[in-house]
Amino acid sequence: MPFLELAIPSPLRRCFDYLPPKGETEAEQQANIQPGMRVLVPFGRQTLVGVVLVIKTETSVPTNKLRAVKSVLDTEPSLSPELLKLCQWAANYYHHPIGDVISQALPPRLRQAKPPRDPVVEYWQITEAGTTFDPTELGRAKKQISLLTLFQREQKLSRDQLKADGFSTNLLKPLIEKGLICETSSPLPPVRHTQTPPQLNDEQQVAVDAVSEKLGQFAPFLLEGITGSGKTEVYLQLIAACIAQGRQALVLIPEIGLGPQTFSRFEQRFLEPMALLHSAMNDGDRLRGWQAAKSGSAQIVIGTRSAILAALPNLGLIIVDEEHDLSYKQQDSFRYNARDIAVKRAADASCPVLLGSATPSLETLRHAIDGKYHHLQLWQRAGNATEPEVEVQDIRDAELHEGISSLSLARIQDRLKAGEQVMVFLNRRGYAPVMQCHSCGWVAECAHCDARMTVHFGKRSLRCHHCDFSQRLPSYCPDCGKDELEHKGPGTERLEMGLKQHIGHYPIVRIDRDTTANKGALQSLLASVQDNKPCVLVGTQMIAKGHHFPNVTLVVIVDIDTALFNPDFRGVERASQLLVQVAGRSGRAEKPGTVIVQTHSPDHVELNSLVQRGYHATAIDLLNERHSLMLPPASFMAVVRAESSLLASTEEFLRDIRKDLHPQGGRLLGPIAAPMTRKAGRYRAILLLLMPERRELHRVLGLLCEQAEKVKAKNSLRWTVDVDPVDLY
Ligand code: ADP
Ligand code: ZN
Ligand code: ZN
Repeated sequence: MPFLELAIPSPLRRCFDYLPPKGETEAEQQANIQPGMRVLVPFGRQTLVGVVLVIKTETSVPTNKLRAVKSVLDTEPSLSPELLKLCQWAANYYHHPIGDVISQALPPRLRQAKPPRDPVVEYWQITEAGTTFDPTELGRAKKQISLLTLFQREQKLSRDQLKADGFSTNLLKPLIEKGLICETSSPLPPVRHTQTPPQLNDEQQVAVDAVSEKLGQFAPFLLEGITGSGKTEVYLQLIAACIAQGRQALVLIPEIGLGPQTFSRFEQRFLEPMALLHSAMNDGDRLRGWQAAKSGSAQIVIGTRSAILAALPNLGLIIVDEEHDLSYKQQDSFRYNARDIAVKRAADASCPVLLGSATPSLETLRHAIDGKYHHLQLWQRAGNATEPEVEVQDIRDAELHEGISSLSLARIQDRLKAGEQVMVFLNRRGYAPVMQCHSCGWVAECAHCDARMTVHFGKRSLRCHHCDFSQRLPSYCPDCGKDELEHKGPGTERLEMGLKQHIGHYPIVRIDRDTTANKGALQSLLASVQDNKPCVLVGTQMIAKGHHFPNVTLVVIVDIDTALFNPDFRGVERASQLLVQVAGRSGRAEKPGTVIVQTHSPDHVELNSLVQRGYHATAIDLLNERHSLMLPPASFMAVVRAESSLLASTEEFLRDIRKDLHPQGGRLLGPIAAPMTRKAGRYRAILLLLMPERRELHRVLGLLCEQAEKVKAKNSLRWTVDVDPVDLY
């Protein structure tokens, strides 16, 4: 009798043994069930979807305690042995329950307790063979001839378009069999022609050659290239080399609403079928993309974080664009970093992995300097563009108009008059971050968090950006009743209103979470800038990354100080990356660009280093500083976070689980209450682990988790583990 070892989504860090479904003969059971298949199981009083990890002949559970699987949901494994292995590695590395890891590797539709439906194909496109095929060779099949001709004109057609043009989908079959058209999961509009690649410059060519040479074997690369140096062009040519060898390329992109734009840049180059796995896609499109990747029909897969766990039977290259980006780190439950899993996955698949960035994380830079990663560098902007000039502007005592200095305003006006575009960056949405009574000193605070409420003028409300609590904007001080409420500090909404007063005859486009909440809003706001007419783009970090607006020649960074003085040990690294990325939006084409950095601390050491010596040199200084303080990447870090409805319970829990632990070398600190102790009504504290050896970190974490699973939780206590955290609280 075989036993099935299953991964089941549960908070427990272990697997569960089950019996095969009842009523089948042993021979049938063994023939049908394979590792990687999804099964429906009774679990406590619930019915859950589990995945078979191992089929074995022994179990330590007494047979009368074993329950049987209800049914098998798959006819072939949903997850390959390679992916199961990767998930198990990740579960161990991140000390996260295997059941949840495996569940997150499945597209949402397959986490549900239903048998998979055959995916409905919604789009078809012409193949390369189809492009040059003479339709008259199809003989007397008139309908087919006109269908192929239509495809040759439109490149790609959807089910609805075909129907509208009077073609039945049955007609597609013979054309698919002849290899003239193929299915595709991409919902994007048709591409009419493919662009010819530009001639690479020497630095780009060196990079392409170095990676191409390693196709077919594991090799990690850092591509450090200043903004606009043509990193994407390097990716495109490497992908071409990879798919020419008949293997799949996986491209990870940050989560910044740029998915479709990046996708279309790729589509303009390649006719090969692609799949998009973006976090904003609906479950149906996601499943279709996942299946296209799994069947191998999609040769290029572009996706955000979770795509690193996509099924790719034929993986030949992984690219991680903007590898420093925080969106690669999942910030709840399974706290993996897709960039780090990418390196492990490339090693398993024996293929190169290319991490690209203008501002590499200190972790990656460390590996490159130590020679663990091949270090490729691009120091020239591609084409005719030059690097923007950065000016630090001392705004102490300066006259400010809703946050913008008179000097900056004059410069903005100059550029607009010259027919150019301007970007004004502030990483804070809303009207003002603080509302205070001038008479009695009362400050608007959130009722559920240790945090201040942000003023949102348009919505006439006060909002907490930590828990989304909101209330009506008061007109009188709730404490002393006087009419002396003041709004302190700027947010993007305030900048927009200020700019309207001074330069309202030019369009002002605000891009932040408030203006882009509705579907399609971001696309239409971006489209209004794409005509290159003079305008001001005001926004949060949504405008900081990835965009390519050739006519932007001035970027004003309204407040860098908040980021520079962030107390987190990664604060300066983050601020530097942000500054360089935002600055990189300026002067990306023929016209040279300028960046103005408004600050109250013009003598800040790293700020000046960044402006005078650039990111790389500054990052090396930061690395040395981390070394002397024994902070990552000079050591290894993990955080155990806990929260409950009572601070004492949270701290008691953390004290309990660390009680008998004595790490060798390194430090185990805590319980430390989070700076914002109360968030959404829950009290938060952490244990901090800092070890010179990763192995010791894992040993201690393992013991902490074991203890934590034993402790009886009080006051709705919840806890999580975070290995290689990007922030502490
Ligand atoms: P990055 O990804 O490094 O920010 P991009 O790949 O977006 O840079 O390149 C910036 C611009 O330069 C794009 O418009 C791109 O088409 C162009 N470009 C890239 N490589 C070349 C090249 N070798 N010759 C001419 N233009 C190039
Ligand atoms: Zn008052
Ligand atoms: Zn709150």
